[in-house]
Amino acid sequence: MRLADVVLDRIARGLDRTWTYEVPAGMEISKGCRVRVPFGKGKAQGIVLAVREANDAVPSGLKCIEAVTDNYVALSPLMVDLGQWMAEEYLCFPSQAYKAMLPNGLDSEEPTVVLVEAVGERAKRASKKQRLWTILRERGPLLQTRIHEEMPELARSLRELIKEGSVVIRHELPQRLPQSIAPSPFTLTTEQQQAAERIITSAPGSVWLLEGVTGSGKTEVYLQAIESVLRAGGQALVLVPEIALTPQTVLRFSERFINMVGLWHSGLSPAERTKTWHDVRTQRISVVVGVRSAVFLPFAKLGLIVMDEEHESTYKQEEHPRYHTREVAMWLARQAGVKLVLGSATPSLETAFYARQGLIGWIRLDSRVGDRALPPVTVVDMRHELKEGNHSIFSSVLQDAVSEALEQHEQVILFLNRRGYASFVLCRECGKAIECPRCAVTMTYHQHEDALICHYCFYTTKPPRACPSCHSPKIRYFGAGTERVVEEVQKLWPNARVSRADRDTLRNRAGYEALYFDFVEHKADVLVGTQMIAKGMDFPNVSVVGIIAADVALHLPDFRRAERTFQLMVQASGRTGRGNRPGTVVVQTYDPDHFAIAHAARHDYDGFYRQEIEFRQELQYPPFANLWLLEVADASVQEARRKAERVAHVVQSLLAYGCEILGPAPAPLPKLRERYRFHILVKGPKSEDVYHVLRELEREDFGCRITVDPYYML
Ligand code: ADP
Ligand code: ZN
Ligand code: ZN
Repeated sequence: MRLADVVLDRIARGLDRTWTYEVPAGMEISKGCRVRVPFGKGKAQGIVLAVREANDAVPSGLKCIEAVTDNYVALSPLMVDLGQWMAEEYLCFPSQAYKAMLPNGLDSEEPTVVLVEAVGERAKRASKKQRLWTILRERGPLLQTRIHEEMPELARSLRELIKEGSVVIRHELPQRLPQSIAPSPFTLTTEQQQAAERIITSAPGSVWLLEGVTGSGKTEVYLQAIESVLRAGGQALVLVPEIALTPQTVLRFSERFINMVGLWHSGLSPAERTKTWHDVRTQRISVVVGVRSAVFLPFAKLGLIVMDEEHESTYKQEEHPRYHTREVAMWLARQAGVKLVLGSATPSLETAFYARQGLIGWIRLDSRVGDRALPPVTVVDMRHELKEGNHSIFSSVLQDAVSEALEQHEQVILFLNRRGYASFVLCRECGKAIECPRCAVTMTYHQHEDALICHYCFYTTKPPRACPSCHSPKIRYFGAGTERVVEEVQKLWPNARVSRADRDTLRNRAGYEALYFDFVEHKADVLVGTQMIAKGMDFPNVSVVGIIAADVALHLPDFRRAERTFQLMVQASGRTGRGNRPGTVVVQTYDPDHFAIAHAARHDYDGFYRQEIEFRQELQYPPFANLWLLEVADASVQEARRKAERVAHVVQSLLAYGCEILGPAPAPLPKLRERYRFHILVKGPKSEDVYHVLRELEREDFGCRITVDPYYML
């Protein structure tokens, strides 16, 4: 008798364990199949973790698997194992991990396409019908959808031909289109060539950091490495941050690997999603360019993963399963021998650390293609501007640069790196932000209560009337919105055409593409936006980039704030000097001597890294320790606080394993969807003991929502 271990499609405490069922004789079943099983009084869906021969001690009263759901195996054995690992690592239910791997509404049979084909003989007088019939006869069976797209005027004739029987319909699995690889339009530089060679000749499972300044031609290296994998019959995955999946990125891949490339992003319809999912599984496509969840696609022969802009925070999923794409990709490298290339001009401190320690391979591209210089960066001290009597949000240096660019018919990008909730109070005279007297972190301004709160220790105070450091009365709540910047631009340069890019205008892909192409075609002179326009876009006519308020990133209540500030500045300055003009960057700040700003202005990643890694080590932040963020939420603020204190009490046992516990403190977003939220931060080693306590905490019923976030990032 055979038994199957099954994980049920239920997200509830107690039901997340493995259930054993009997396999009826003759049933074709294997690890990774979806099954229908009896459960309680009803039925449930499940995933088969293992099929095994029953030994002597078969538990009595086992129920039978009712049916295998699909006519294909939904999850490869590798993906089944990945789901188990994720459940452990990210403290989620296994079913949540599997849900992330399967597209919604996946059918039990792979969807077919409809082909139409001319049959028999048909020689009538010239008509639309006869024309279509002849086309079909000459070109062979065609996709019905293709006729609707290419010859919409013949759609009606098609219906009539089908009715009269001279055209028949066939349902078939999609065919693989004729594929080819186009040659690179460039001669690779020696640096690029050597980088590609090192990746290509490395052992399976090798992990590389490709650290290359903006404009150093990393994409050509990726393309070269991918080509080598494809020629050997393998598949490749290119991961990009959600916001970097521009038409331009896609074109570079699809023009090179003809009929081989599929896309994966949040704008796909369920049908498109399912189709790509099956295309990957059956190797009809060999390359996917996609956002983070593409890492779960069912590749049959994955040989290489490229993770572009690996430092991006959008690679982390903020809801269950709270995975980090980089960690999942690393797991695939370890377990399945997939090569992994992490590319960035400003690597995350973790990746940079691993590379410098020799734990992963390290390749550098230090020069820009064509030896174009990196743009000069001017750091403007806004305290000085104020003393000079300039109250505008634009410094005089930036005003002059913009005026000159507009006169030369060049384009300008203005960045506002504002994060909605992280507001703080800044002194415009001495440049200091108000900090917690106990924790030395920037206190967050809560408009609701008109109070400053420390997110690490609870300390709360009224915003002062004068600066605690220099006693200046010129302190204010900080943060200008993109609307405000647009207004100012229109006031100063009434003839300039301004376009605004932020979360509101970029709701969907169509909006994004429209904005992008309009700016490339120079339908706007000035683009104002948040950091989402800092990524991967190539605008050859941009000669001035302005960062309006570098301080906003610097004062995030986040241990990665220096890293984020540095990355933003370098990525933003990478948006200029791409055409033939050198370009210029203006950074406005009240803290020009901050090391993140000073190093970014010199494009000096190494200098920044050395200083930041010291800070991380001293305070035991990643990569030196792991962080887990525990979140407690309740409809009543007193209840939420009381429960948070109980949870904090339980995790005190972690002190014995070398952990440090911070909080409870109100979350940076203290009230969300009518619930008050408190955070407790656990810092410590990634050890079995620690996981054990956290897992128990997940299981125990505190009568409130506890979210364990194993890889803390803001
Ligand atoms: P990165 O991703 O490192 O910022 P890109 O891959 O976008 O850089 O390359 C920057 C620009 O240089 C692109 O416009 C690209 O087409 C061009 N480019 C890349 N490699 C070469 C080469 N070997 N010769 C000429 N141009 C190149
Ligand atoms: Zn001051
Ligand atoms: Zn504090």
